Amino acid sequence: MKKIDLMTKVFEAFANSSASKHVYLCDMKTDISRWSKSGVEQFGLPGEVMEHAGQIWEEHIHPNDREEYHRQIMEIFEGKADAHDMVYRAMNRDGNYVVCTCKGSVITDDDGTPLYFAGTIDNHGIANEYDPITNLLSRAKLIEKMKSLKEEKIPYNILFLSLCDFSEINNVHGYDFGNKLLRLFSERLLDYTRKASIFHAGGTKFAVISSVYTEKEMEEIYHELHRYAMHEVNLDGTRIAVTLAGSYARVDNFEIDEHTVLTTGLMGLDDSIYKQHGKLTQFDSRGTELHDRLVIIGALRSSIISGYSGFYLCFQPIVSSQDDLLLGAEALLRWQKEPFGNVPPGLFIAWLENDPLFYDLSNWILRSAMTLWKEKVLPINPDLILNINLSYIQLDKPTFRNDLLNIISEVGFPEKNLCLELTERCRFMNLEFLRNEIIFLKSRGIRVALDDFGTGFSALELLINLPIDTIKIDRSFVIDIEDKKENQFVVKALLECAKNLGVRSTVEGIETIAMRNVLRDYGASTLQGYLYSKPVTIDEFIKLELKGLNS
Ligand code: C2E
Ligand code: MG
Ligand code: MG
Repeated sequence: MKKIDLMTKVFEAFANSSASKHVYLCDMKTDISRWSKSGVEQFGLPGEVMEHAGQIWEEHIHPNDREEYHRQIMEIFEGKADAHDMVYRAMNRDGNYVVCTCKGSVITDDDGTPLYFAGTIDNHGIANEYDPITNLLSRAKLIEKMKSLKEEKIPYNILFLSLCDFSEINNVHGYDFGNKLLRLFSERLLDYTRKASIFHAGGTKFAVISSVYTEKEMEEIYHELHRYAMHEVNLDGTRIAVTLAGSYARVDNFEIDEHTVLTTGLMGLDDSIYKQHGKLTQFDSRGTELHDRLVIIGALRSSIISGYSGFYLCFQPIVSSQDDLLLGAEALLRWQKEPFGNVPPGLFIAWLENDPLFYDLSNWILRSAMTLWKEKVLPINPDLILNINLSYIQLDKPTFRNDLLNIISEVGFPEKNLCLELTERCRFMNLEFLRNEIIFLKSRGIRVALDDFGTGFSALELLINLPIDTIKIDRSFVIDIEDKKENQFVVKALLECAKNLGVRSTVEGIETIAMRNVLRDYGASTLQGYLYSKPVTIDEFIKLELKGLNS
């Protein structure tokens, strides 16, 4: 029997041995792998035969476990190791992390040349109860606890905590050190909060729930922990100063569901991390903006759950700068709900990004925008491009590629008519990861634009390193373009830079003819703004008096 047939037979024998034990076999020369069907189904992988399966799989692995996994696989492929044995968390097709033991070894030929990398992944099931790194109760348990307190109508105080700048700690001291630090902090947290339940809320985030401590006591606990993290952490002989961020609330309104409290609490935590340098924020003080946010997030969530009621899309034209010819439009989300009225997306999208339901909403946006465009616009002009905004949360989801391709094929949308806009928050993502995602999109013929260009300080780095098609220059740079020398200088330089790199440019916020003339002179490729039209519904859009549409 030929060696290759033998490998196939052995593979099949093992592949069918157990539903929770998955088998993989990788041809190390071609990097083509075969995975057992059960694994492909449980984790929503693209197929049983995959090219670069290691990279595809890496996206499923929990961010905290990814670095170590990557290191081990690189060692195998670089010939520095001949076996792999690791426990990690991987996201299954339902979006839940499961704990897996992965073992593999290299099979060589008679002269020791590596031929195959083969092994098994043992799925131990949803990491439901305890977080394996901190040994604290998991996020699923946190939700259960909040739900039961709500049902029993027991008021409680909740404090969310996060260790800041953790990726830097991992970079400088290594991944093992990072894990040990999380464990050490969890132990201290237990010491400081004897009358509370402690949970791991994901990544470097924690939650403390107590119906015994008063609000004042919770605040004191926070300040003590803050002091500890900053001044007293000593690990393996290394003194390290960690900034702690926190947000808290008293929960005594039993109408509000536990997911809303969690989402709002994590939002408050983001405020504390990014805007308040770790100052404790209160995310539910009555009569304040934060309390309104809690109520609106609750209403947004119920809108999503009840079939996206209140959500709809508007479309804003994008025209050629030289002759005002219509080239496409950007889909922009709207939410209209009484008593809140029309809530601007700039506000609620940032709030919702912390919520697991946001991904469902994002897929609804993709599907609805493409369907409307295909049915109403393409029959009028088949060249018009549809821009859809993507949040970094979508890209980060291991199932994103599959979900996007499924929506495109369900709708039957021509990929060449689609442009995805990556928003500014994507700059927090790993550059190599972002690059791979963009290369994937482009390989499908989808265009990619960088939105909000110029607002983040790493914009130029992104422009140089990512294979994007278009940059969209933020409205803030063109508001006073006719009078403000600084803005003229910046916009001119950005446009020049894009042109030299062969990247197209769209300038947003064009409100007057004078502004258009300036940008036309500067050589912007396309323009978008109220001068052409505000964002309007699709039926209004197809009636706009624009060259390329009706004339
Ligand atoms: P963006 O993607 O940069 O969208 C452009 C924003 O500028 C839109 O605000 C648009 O209405 C506004 N705009 C365009 N031209 C003018 C103008 O001439 N003058 C003025 N004053 N404003 C102009 P909008 O619709 O409020 O959206 C705000 C942000 O919310 C968007 O910024 C985008 O980041 C986000 N967003 C909107 N829809 C979606 C969506 O479907 N998904 C995601 N992930 N984000 C979205
Ligand atoms: Mg946009
Ligand atoms: Mg923009």
